[in-house]
Amino acid sequence: MRKDTFPKFKALLKKSQNVVIVTHWSPDGDAMGSSLGLYHYLKSLKKTVTVVVPNDYPDFLEWLPGNKHVLVFEKDSAKVNKLLAKAHIIFTLDFNTLKRIEKLGIEIEKAVAPKIIIDHHQQPDNYASLYFHDVNACSTCELIYDFIEGLGGKKLIDKKIASCLYVGIMTDTGSFRYPSVNSKTHLIISELLKTGIMPSDIHSAIYDTYSESRMRLLGYALSKKMTIIEGLPVAFISFTEAELKEFGYKKGDTEGIVNYPFAIKGIKVCALFNEGEGGIKLSFRSKGNIDVNTFARNYFNGGGHINAAGGKTYDSLEKTVEKFVSLAHELVK
Ligand code: 5GP
Ligand code: MN
Repeated sequence: MRKDTFPKFKALLKKSQNVVIVTHWSPDGDAMGSSLGLYHYLKSLKKTVTVVVPNDYPDFLEWLPGNKHVLVFEKDSAKVNKLLAKAHIIFTLDFNTLKRIEKLGIEIEKAVAPKIIIDHHQQPDNYASLYFHDVNACSTCELIYDFIEGLGGKKLIDKKIASCLYVGIMTDTGSFRYPSVNSKTHLIISELLKTGIMPSDIHSAIYDTYSESRMRLLGYALSKKMTIIEGLPVAFISFTEAELKEFGYKKGDTEGIVNYPFAIKGIKVCALFNEGEGGIKLSFRSKGNIDVNTFARNYFNGGGHINAAGGKTYDSLEKTVEKFVSLAHELVK
């Protein structure tokens, strides 16, 4: 845990008008929920705030309040660079290293504004002036809740902020079932519900949004593509670019697929390999003390959390899968 004190955050916020909030590559529910939750809070403090994402995010996050003001660096880099140059603070949310945001990371490094990291991933880098970091938080949204509360802003948490934070907590905990969930998680949710948000509506808005082809891709993954490594509690699924194309792949369509093999009794590690975007994107999930963060860091240029990590390679899909299979023994031993 690395947390600076609230008086320090207060002092910095007090003298800062222009705020930029940045989140990670391929933003997920926690990335967008935390960024937009913080956005609405800072707007209510009359700050000039912009949320910037490195690249686009899935459609099912587009209903989040504030979505239409989000800038995508890949599409609007000149505008983003101007904002970064004028920023008095830059918040970086839900990631631990500027490498996670590709070219936008270089621009952030150049910017003179102090950076604040709010995050729950293992081993954050040292680029920030202030930290609000805790690997035990179930989500960055939980940390945003604590952050707002610590600054004395709990009364300002309205339906908009609550919807955003609910989304991040729900998605990063697999709908409240991962080991990161504890009584505090539910206490925060209880506070968020007091604003009048409807959990069933939010759940539907995020999860009941499959296209037919996405559903068929899931079926294909489970019936044709899942491999269980003989003698090991390890399952993986891999997609070639052509297969993804055949199922009309859109960003976010493979999200969640990695977890399905856990429903098989005894499976402790799941992996997903997606070919495309100039390389292979890997996702790892594990149970108990099997550490996929270290594994992803050591072998696949990635990282994340002990039980959920990702990485990438520029090898062929075949080679990547082979490498994973040959290392799987070591991972689960
Ligand atoms: P996912 O498999 O859902 O893409 O990612 C799982 C977790 O690992 C997320 O918390 C994500 O932030 C982290 N992660 C995914 N890909 C990478 C990567 O390439 N590098 C690092 N450091 N973390 C990653
Ligand atoms: Mn997160």
